[in-house]
Amino acid sequence: RAKSQGRNRYQFFNHNLQADIINNKRLADEILSGIENGEFTAWYQPQFSARTNELIGAEALVRWNHPSRGLLTPDKFLKIADEINVVQTLDRLVLDAVLRDKMRWAALGISIPKVSVNVSARRLHDESLIDSLLNLYIRPGEISFELVESIFLDESEDIAAHNLDRIKSLGIDIEIDDFGTGHTSIVSLLKLKPKRLKIDRQLVQPIVNSPQERTLVSSIIDIARSLGVETVAEGVESAAHAALLHELGCDLLQGYAFSPPLSYTDFTTAAAGQTWRLAS
Ligand code: C2E
Ligand code: MG
Ligand code: MG
Ligand code: MG
Repeated sequence: RAKSQGRNRYQFFNHNLQADIINNKRLADEILSGIENGEFTAWYQPQFSARTNELIGAEALVRWNHPSRGLLTPDKFLKIADEINVVQTLDRLVLDAVLRDKMRWAALGISIPKVSVNVSARRLHDESLIDSLLNLYIRPGEISFELVESIFLDESEDIAAHNLDRIKSLGIDIEIDDFGTGHTSIVSLLKLKPKRLKIDRQLVQPIVNSPQERTLVSSIIDIARSLGVETVAEGVESAAHAALLHELGCDLLQGYAFSPPLSYTDFTTAAAGQTWRLAS
């Protein structure tokens, strides 16, 4: 009995594995045709000053208008896009969309001082990155690149460091994304002289109930501040979080307490009407 059960289990596993391979292959093909058909777009999540609650900017986040499955978030496709070596194409499409949308906002008289885009390891290490940026018109400080800690740990560190300097010299700011999820020390990260440090929501969410976590976040903010690096809290889900983060000296707030990511149209309507209110 045990033997037949073992075999069944094996077949079950095998069957799932095969289904996964087929699904991933289909998804990969759909990503490629989605790129061809312009199905990927940028959504925007607003960021606010902790001090004044003023709109300071937005983070652009990739979304996929899938022809049959509807709107898809990155957890459904980013890993496969990375595996088939097109994540950098998505990054570039998002930046193109941001620059186009910024012009539309300017024409409408809406001021969004800064928009940040997420940059994958593949794109940072891409030797043609700088050339592709040179073709764009970007005013100093209006765009920033969000890079996760792990980008600075892998092999081709030289290209990354070289590209980092060139990116800064083009007037694009650097932000460390998801700080606190990796194993890099804050000191080594701040040596990169980023403009901002984004504190991951896993660190931010417990601060209201846990004095220990509050102290940790407070120390991160203090170290960053002493080095002239701005701090952004991610995953700010309540007014209590927002108030506490302001008290701890955090500069910028981003999270569902203010707004989820929005389509260009919804973001533009809200920005034009200044309709954002802090949810409690
Ligand atoms: P991220 O860069 O850390 O972006 C923040 C994520 O947290 C977004 O998920 C956002 O919707 C979500 N979020 C915002 N506020 C809250 C909150 O209050 N509570 C909770 N629980 N979540 C919140 P999203 O849009 O699904 O993106 C997931 C990740 O995918 C991003 O994390 C980023 O790592 C990656 N990503 C998104 N767009 C791009 C892109 O254009 N290029 C690359 N390379 N990666 C991207
Ligand atoms: Mg990000
Ligand atoms: Mg993040
Ligand atoms: Mg995060």
